[in-house]
Amino acid sequence: MTEDFQTDSRQMLGRLRGVMAEDAAGQARLDQITRLIAEEMRCEVCSIYLFRDEDTLELCATEGLNPAAVHETRMRLGEGLVGRVARSGKVINSDNAPAERGFRFMPETGEEAYSSFLGVPVRRLGEKLGVLVVQSRDARLFSEDEVYAVEVVAMVLAEMTELGAFVGEGAAMSARHQQQVAIRATSAQEGAAQGHVWLHEPRVVVTNPIAEDPHTELNRLRDAVEQLRVGVDRMLSNAATGDTEQLEVLEAYRMFANSKGWLRRMEEDISRGLSAEAAVEKEQSTARARMEQVTDAYLRGRLHDLDDLSNRLLRILTGQGNETGAEMPSDPILVARNIGPGELLDYGRSLKGIVLEEGAVGSHAAIVARALAIPLVIHADRITTEALNGDHIMVDGDQGMVHLRPDDTVVAAFRDKMAMQAKAQERYASIRDKPAETRDGVHVCMHMNAGLMADLPSLQGSGAEAVGLFRTELQFLVRSHMPKRAELSGLYARVMDAAGDKRVVFRTLDIGSDKVLPYMKAVSEPNPALGWRAVRVGLDKPGVMRMQLQALIRAAAGRPLSVMFPFVAQREEFTAARAEMDKAMERERILGHPLPRTLEVGAMLETPSLAFSPDSFYREVDFLSIGGNDLKQFFFAADRENELVRRRYDTLNVSFLTFLQSIVTRCENTGTPLSFCGEDAGRPVEAACLAAIGLRTLSMRPASIGPVKSILRRTDLGELLEVINTARERGDQSVRPSVMDYLRGKL
Ligand code: PEP
Ligand code: MG
Repeated sequence: MTEDFQTDSRQMLGRLRGVMAEDAAGQARLDQITRLIAEEMRCEVCSIYLFRDEDTLELCATEGLNPAAVHETRMRLGEGLVGRVARSGKVINSDNAPAERGFRFMPETGEEAYSSFLGVPVRRLGEKLGVLVVQSRDARLFSEDEVYAVEVVAMVLAEMTELGAFVGEGAAMSARHQQQVAIRATSAQEGAAQGHVWLHEPRVVVTNPIAEDPHTELNRLRDAVEQLRVGVDRMLSNAATGDTEQLEVLEAYRMFANSKGWLRRMEEDISRGLSAEAAVEKEQSTARARMEQVTDAYLRGRLHDLDDLSNRLLRILTGQGNETGAEMPSDPILVARNIGPGELLDYGRSLKGIVLEEGAVGSHAAIVARALAIPLVIHADRITTEALNGDHIMVDGDQGMVHLRPDDTVVAAFRDKMAMQAKAQERYASIRDKPAETRDGVHVCMHMNAGLMADLPSLQGSGAEAVGLFRTELQFLVRSHMPKRAELSGLYARVMDAAGDKRVVFRTLDIGSDKVLPYMKAVSEPNPALGWRAVRVGLDKPGVMRMQLQALIRAAAGRPLSVMFPFVAQREEFTAARAEMDKAMERERILGHPLPRTLEVGAMLETPSLAFSPDSFYREVDFLSIGGNDLKQFFFAADRENELVRRRYDTLNVSFLTFLQSIVTRCENTGTPLSFCGEDAGRPVEAACLAAIGLRTLSMRPASIGPVKSILRRTDLGELLEVINTARERGDQSVRPSVMDYLRGKL
């Protein structure tokens, strides 16, 4: 890099700033810019192409080509050299363009035989916006410095495009954040919602991409980086020592914040004429582009960390926090890269839907969203880049689709769907107080799953007869510290108060595997789902379990109490856990606290091994509840959170149904009350089959009770069992096709 050329690039940006300061219309501005770049680069041609839709580029301004071609000439992604730059995101620099692969001669542009071609992608934070091209007649390979200068200009152009500086007559110029976008994503919580975008972390807006004085900008950058380093060190010293994942991220932050290369590249960008903010964004853009190409999960994670760190640095530089003064819409759909469970709880039920760019089906945020019954879609690629606060958005949590700025046809179709759902809801409401009694007179008990205080109000309105599963870990997960016994007993008492005379089955802490408490020492395990979790932790380190059992007894304060232990794999574990309960009762008795009027202690059947335990185990437990989510993952050896396999095996697979039926039979023979509380209990077709094979208590999300009850009331379980048996005898892999046929004919 020569000192000379640096001045040139600064000069070009200086002139660009002049153009931007003028009060010109979008098109006039673009025309001026192409003229200016052509002059500065000593080239005959400079053109700007912008995307008019996902895969079409439109010539929006040119110096040197036929002006009549502006807004007329279009090309597909990948077509010609311009299309190639757009698709690959890589610079093409050639002194013999016609000889390049993919070259396409475009006579309509009045293109002559230009030998040299330099095409640079215009993109902002990894988002492709267009291509900036310079061409010259003489065969010249642009120098590294020249390429760099054009890249810097492209970056400023991207920034200006984002700010809407070029809105004008061409479709491409008006398209920015106006087109409808449909994103195919992954469903993490069913339901449909429409509303307006509320960005959890609003984008930092850079309004001054070009530096007035590089020295000032350099100082601003260095100060901001220093502030960033201090902040990261503080976060590190405050971090919980046990949380290896958080520590790993913070260590990566520290590494980047102290990276000389990162700082040097940004300083270089400033010396070329960019402002400190634009320099940070340029680096961030490069990292994002790389992120799209990297498949290694660890590397992607680190690039993400760099991205987060860049955002922090931008917030320091611009002074922009999350508070932008924007007002939350009345029907907010939360859009975020990711969100923690605590933050989600802060929003609570005010949200109509949630769309995350990342996330995982089993993440804590997903657990909370499910508990709040808010439609949630995850893995919505690029949503945080595409969406603006206030954009109209429709979320289809059933199909895992997101429609941003939908057009009228999508809106109409979506509204029809929502209307149908509303009609179904009305139908469900009308049978709310009716029993879930099948056509052949079998009563199936409808229980609900809960995990938050906020769930309890649904109990009365849902038609549930009891809370069949209260997941106590949510209260632990959303806190930053271990809750105290008094806190917990207060909370459990409120849950029981809210349930009135309805039974609540409290499941003791189910942590480990994916559910890691931020304040507990994390252990690194090769296979966490098969690892040290739930009752295994409770028995090995009984302190927390004892505290929780005490809190439950105190909360009951003389009322009936039901407790169940998760993830019991063999009888001895249950016996030991039950002994802890007995000890806790004895301790409370000695301390003079009132004991529960009745006490039921049960186990969750989540591992195949437990199903085969001796009859004495079935007699020992007061009740059993099948945790179908875990039981299924261990039965098929298919991780419930792994997208590659989690939908591979059908719950209605004959082997699994036969296995479940054998559990029902054993419980019948030993007189053990049995329920099913996995997600499948809330899926109407699955629920009907579970009832047909003999389950008489199903526990599900409150919103599922209506649909399940509705199907049960229209089903003859005897007939359905026959359909299942016939499919089984025929050797079908899954009974689903026959069951669907049967149900379709009946309903
Ligand atoms: C289950 O495994 O089915 C269950 C209900 O527990 P969780 O989903 O909380 O693991
Ligand atoms: Mg489970």
